[in-house]
Amino acid sequence: MRADTPYQDPATWDRAPVFVEKDTDVLLGLLAETGAKATFLALGWIAEKYPALIRRISDQGHEVGCHGYYHQLVYDQTPQAFREEVSRARACSKT
Ligand SMILES: [Zn+2]
Repeated sequence: MRADTPYQDPATWDRAPVFVEKDTDVLLGLLAETGAKATFLALGWIAEKYPALIRRISDQGHEVGCHGYYHQLVYDQTPQAFREEVSRARACSKT
């Protein structure tokens, strides 16, 4: 199920209000208070735009997983498109 948002199309994402850093830092603070560790499933698109955020998550001992580059539904993709999406997202972890 997709969220009901005017930003379904990745082409619109640069125009969307930005909450990811502020909201993730709130979550990181709550996790730090309790000493809990979490897995953060990040998009390559986010990792490319906010590499310091991904670094903060990792530096605080949390696991960073990949949820693709644009968060496209796997059953909407061809095998080739899926491979490209995952490869592009994984390349972000090397920056
Ligand atoms: Zn997801």
